[in-house]
Amino acid sequence: MRTVVLALMLGSGLSAQAPSVQTGTQAMDQVLRALDAKRDAYAGVANQIWSFAELGYQEEKSSALLQSELRAAGFTVKSGVADIPTAFVATWGSGKPVIGIVGEFDALPGLSQKALPHREAVLDGGPGHGCGHHLFGTASTAAAIAVKQWLESGRRAGTIRFYGTPAEEGGSGKVYMLRAGLFDDVDAVVSWHPGDRNDVSPVSNLANVSARFRFRGISAHAAAAPDKARSALDAVEAMNHMVNLMREHVPQETRIHYVITQGGKAANVVPDLAEVVMLARHPDMRTLDGIWERIINAGKGAALGTGTTMEMEVISAVYNVLPNDYLVSLQRKNLQRVGGVTYSAEERAFAESIRKTLTEPMLPLGSESQVQPVRAEITYASTDMGDVSWRVPTVQLSAATWVPGTSAHSWQAVAAGGTSIGAKGMMVAAKTMTLTAIDLFTDPSHIKKAREEFDRRRGANFTYQSRLDRAKPALDYRK
Ligand SMILES: [Zn+2]
Ligand SMILES: [Zn+2]
Repeated sequence: MRTVVLALMLGSGLSAQAPSVQTGTQAMDQVLRALDAKRDAYAGVANQIWSFAELGYQEEKSSALLQSELRAAGFTVKSGVADIPTAFVATWGSGKPVIGIVGEFDALPGLSQKALPHREAVLDGGPGHGCGHHLFGTASTAAAIAVKQWLESGRRAGTIRFYGTPAEEGGSGKVYMLRAGLFDDVDAVVSWHPGDRNDVSPVSNLANVSARFRFRGISAHAAAAPDKARSALDAVEAMNHMVNLMREHVPQETRIHYVITQGGKAANVVPDLAEVVMLARHPDMRTLDGIWERIINAGKGAALGTGTTMEMEVISAVYNVLPNDYLVSLQRKNLQRVGGVTYSAEERAFAESIRKTLTEPMLPLGSESQVQPVRAEITYASTDMGDVSWRVPTVQLSAATWVPGTSAHSWQAVAAGGTSIGAKGMMVAAKTMTLTAIDLFTDPSHIKKAREEFDRRRGANFTYQSRLDRAKPALDYRK
């Protein structure tokens, strides 16, 4: 989640549409106090998931722990949904509106790290929570339970639904859950992501598609019978060359990367099998569609010109995030009410040590207690939340679970995420999402206005369609 400004995408004026406060202050104070009272318990849940550090689609213990929390709170849990053993949906209540809260819990390979302000792995080369998803899943669970208690205490109509979404890091878990129809009746989705700041902004990111291009030719002795051979490696090189020439003739926000994953075994044998993995990104999926088609054509052209054949297998494909200014202003108002994180002397000392290891941190120490001003920008990252945001009006927030200036996917993020700094940031997120969901249940005009903006931004004839053409999730992609 690197935040480099690429382009301004200002939507409809934020201040002009600022929603009004509809909920009683005292009742909301009570809801927030109830969450505070469970802070240590939730910190314990997050710490366990941090220790499990399970990779995408292998999150058995993490998923089971969150399910048991939700079940104990009275939710009905359906697990193993969308052909994914660790995916689940927990529901409480009935009828409309249906508000979804999303929680992730997968870790990253190679980022094992102790909760210390210097680099020291728990297990060398092992996995670690470098994206804070242990906090993500736990805060979202806490919010869903708090909303359920509020609905129940007031005997209010409506459904609160928690989505346990595995394998965000490259597994596109949510895309399969969307394809299974699990979000079809949802009116709005409330979510967040751990970060180095407190912020709610109409931030978008990059849609991406990646695929294996596998070429098959004919092997022969490279010196004695080269005329009998057709080189699959030539095809990979020809494809790469065409794609590299293409860079000059695509919109400048485009990103294209590749790695050659197979290129033959010995220089004296003409390779009959070679493979390149291509990954392309652009801020809008609809533009990316056209770029991707040209990349496929480069592969077809390479096969034709080298006398080989080509197969393509899509690995992942996610949309850019579609922001919703109306929901942003609603969630921002709630974040301002909740406020940021205040460090203890011990946490401050930890943060100061971490800061010494960071390269040019953008935000100063102390900013963790503030809410950042609104920004409308595009970040160079991709997430399967993008697909959710094109199917259902969606809002996210960032909460300061890491020391200001920390980048996602770093050992510093794993370290802070394993301390009380992470737990404090997590509670900011849980409280903010709870208040936003309560707003959505309380005043139907919020959903109506969010939906109007959603329809306008998607365009009249838009139907969400996943770009992932795999029949089944790649459950073994991290094995
Ligand atoms: Zn990540
Ligand atoms: Zn993440």
